[in-house]
Amino acid sequence: GPAPEDSSVVTDWIRRHEARFGHFIDGHFTDPAQTFTTTNPATGEAVAQIASGSAADVDAAVSAARAAQPGWAALDGHARARHLYALARHLQQHARFLAVLETIDNGKTIRESRDIDLPLVIRHFYHHAGWAELLADEFPGARPHGVCGQIIPWNFPLLMLAWKVAPALAAGNTVVLKPAEYTPLTALAFAEIAREAGLPPGVLNIVTGDGETGAALVRHPDVDKIAFTGSTEVGRLIRQETAGSGKALTLELGGKSPLIVFADADLDAAVEGIVDSIWFNQGQVCCAGSRILVAEPVAERLEKLLRNRLTTLVTGDPLDKSTDLGPIVDPVQLARIRELVAKGVDGGATLYQGSAPDGCYYPPTLVTGVEPASVLCTEEIFGPVVTLTPFRTPEDAVALANNTRYGLAASVWTENVNLALDIASQVRAGVVWINTANVFDAGAPFGGWRESGFGREGGRAGMSAYLAGTQPAGKGREAPL
Ligand code: NAD
Repeated sequence: GPAPEDSSVVTDWIRRHEARFGHFIDGHFTDPAQTFTTTNPATGEAVAQIASGSAADVDAAVSAARAAQPGWAALDGHARARHLYALARHLQQHARFLAVLETIDNGKTIRESRDIDLPLVIRHFYHHAGWAELLADEFPGARPHGVCGQIIPWNFPLLMLAWKVAPALAAGNTVVLKPAEYTPLTALAFAEIAREAGLPPGVLNIVTGDGETGAALVRHPDVDKIAFTGSTEVGRLIRQETAGSGKALTLELGGKSPLIVFADADLDAAVEGIVDSIWFNQGQVCCAGSRILVAEPVAERLEKLLRNRLTTLVTGDPLDKSTDLGPIVDPVQLARIRELVAKGVDGGATLYQGSAPDGCYYPPTLVTGVEPASVLCTEEIFGPVVTLTPFRTPEDAVALANNTRYGLAASVWTENVNLALDIASQVRAGVVWINTANVFDAGAPFGGWRESGFGREGGRAGMSAYLAGTQPAGKGREAPL
């Protein structure tokens, strides 16, 4: 097979930084005091020491962002657009480096970081450069919130950064972003690239650390808006913390998304859609299709096709271009997946699994014979595990699909367009894909219902979330978290 991707470009970069990274505040890297270690989940090896952000570090970053904000907002939209275009071009120049770095820090396969994450990241900056140019016409009278505190998860580190940073900057806000503790490296590399691209100091600040650092950012009195992507538990805490504070808030949280396969569906296409939905990024995807609901007449056939397909997937070295699934991001997450699956098996479920090497890996897994009340059908596993449940009628399919606290995404598989549209309108989810899954675009809004959060990212709705005095999208459909 093909040789592993050359990672010397990353090794050199880490060495240049002496494998120690401070925060990026006001255009400079600080000297790290307290640090933690970020590791490569494929090997378990330490990659670098990373600064643990204190409340004082957060305060310094917020001050820098506050000082830079009036000047940034005073630039006209075309001038901010030029900065965003420059950022996009520089990201493009460093795309290979960033893809390898993402794979080393997160474990996602190089094929995905190179062909999916990086192109989407770059596209997001180009798209939002366009919004900066259109702002005055499209949102007359709107103004930026000011300083945005942004907290992101580890599953798409650079892409989640792009979703947050690009619209914030386009709208004239300045940013303090905290990446997840498992995956801080691409955010730090991004900061360096932004400086190289000429972004003024203070417009973008990165503070690294764990949940305590995030909590300090949420509590900081001089932050005007909090944008959070992560677990529903932490989202709920942040909502309580910000209630009554006057801070604007958007939350992108978890999911338990259904894939509904009707009897007339192209089953081969559905199988590939399921592969892309739940075995993509080891299932560590907020909108992963983790519950297959299949019409009884084709249930057995779909199960057979999937059992065959999962044995063909290669789990292993994520830097190898022929690998389909890399490691799980961290042993703690792996233990969580194992624990949930063990509970499901105790409840009588049957597992079919592909193979996986020793180490921080989990094989692609299909679960059958599982009750709708089982944890495997109700809890977000955040691993490559999908349940298969037959249904009788379209009404049953909708009822099963909506039998969840979440509402992030869904997909419907059928050759009957009327049925597809009818079902799509009845499934309570922020995105419903038809005969496809996990398709993203910078111009399309993304976000959840119910415990999947509120607010939208992407497109016009996503822009309005970074502007005061516009109608926030996704409201009205939210239930109390
Ligand atoms: P997490 O909630 O544990 O952590 C997310 C981020 O919040 C991290 O940066 C973490 O350090 C920080 N954090 C933790 N506690 C905090 C606190 N008390 N205050 C402020 N910040 C705090 O989630 P995770 O395990 O990193 O990510 C997985 C979760 O993210 C899954 O539930 C997944 O569904 C969700 N997710 C959602 C989307 C979406 O767009 N809806 C996208 C990706 C991931």
